Amino acid sequence: MTHVHGEKASASADDRSEPGDGADVTNRLRRRAVMLCILTTAVVASAEIGVGVAFGLISVTAEGLHTGADLLDSLIAYFLVIIASRPADRDHPYGHGKYDSLGAIVEGGFVFITGGWALLKSAGVLLGLVDADPRPEPVTVGIMLAAAVLYWGVSRYVIRLADQTRSPLVYAEAMHLRSHVWITLGLAAGLALSKAGLSAGWSAAHQVDAIVAVLLGAYLMRLGWRIVRPGFRQLMDTALPDEEIRRITEVLDRFREEFVEIHGVRTRGAGVDRHVDIHLMVEGDRTVRWAHDLSHRIEAELHEQMPGVRLLVHVEPAAGRAWEEYLARRRVGRVVVRDCAPLAAEADHHSDVRAHQG
Ligand SMILES: [Zn+2]
Ligand SMILES: [Zn+2]
Ligand SMILES: [Zn+2]
Repeated sequence: MTHVHGEKASASADDRSEPGDGADVTNRLRRRAVMLCILTTAVVASAEIGVGVAFGLISVTAEGLHTGADLLDSLIAYFLVIIASRPADRDHPYGHGKYDSLGAIVEGGFVFITGGWALLKSAGVLLGLVDADPRPEPVTVGIMLAAAVLYWGVSRYVIRLADQTRSPLVYAEAMHLRSHVWITLGLAAGLALSKAGLSAGWSAAHQVDAIVAVLLGAYLMRLGWRIVRPGFRQLMDTALPDEEIRRITEVLDRFREEFVEIHGVRTRGAGVDRHVDIHLMVEGDRTVRWAHDLSHRIEAELHEQMPGVRLLVHVEPAAGRAWEEYLARRRVGRVVVRDCAPLAAEADHHSDVRAHQG
């Protein structure tokens, strides 16, 4: 018997798994987070492109273009968040959480490509293939420092929102803004160094701009990869992190007096949703109503610990070795999490069931 808990059962009055107001708050916070990122990047991109072009600074222009691209990314993210927060529907019965994962991949991929571009461009300058005439005036240093302060304040707030909503996309946006703090500080330092060098009559100070851009490019490629990875893991249905599986096991274990065994535990993440499915082995004479009630109590407890959890329960009667061990342990349930081949075990204990019936 397979029973879906969560969205499908939301019509029944006893269903305690509905996120309700909590989900509304989460969606509102996620939209606020992305809106803040859009406003911040819009302000900084205009300032950087203006300064970069006016003063002939390749590193600042590149960073301004990158920030302008971030603005587009954030706009895409805003719509992805709206899609990802829609409830499950007929075409997407598991919800739209993976649009969120996809958003992280698109955004991280773009940062990666931008990094590669900056690397090639500045290498061209250093090799003398491209002309450059940077004028690092004090006002350019001041503007980059102001941008760093703005990025720091906004990213701090958005990281807090990401913790509250546990959205990989909002987290990606926050970490992206945070990366700009170091980038803009690095650019400001490069500009100051370049200015000091030129004032001292050191002509090689012209190259500082391109050297800074090489470092910027390498950094962005690494950052992009780190944003892409968690989104990719979700798309590939990789199991939840060990820490979360440990917390899930802990909750299941609280019900050990009531079941015989829980096995076949499988987990995966999709945006803010965590899908968990388990095989709940109970004493064979229990009623369907009893097993259903236990399933809902387990789900309610899981939901208490981790709000995005969706639990799917497969109920089965105790038989064979599991039943004998249960009796030998004097009726205390056991949670088996690390069985790598739940389906193979299934064939084994389901043949036990048939043997009992035959
Ligand atoms: Zn139910
Ligand atoms: Zn960026
Ligand atoms: Zn089973």
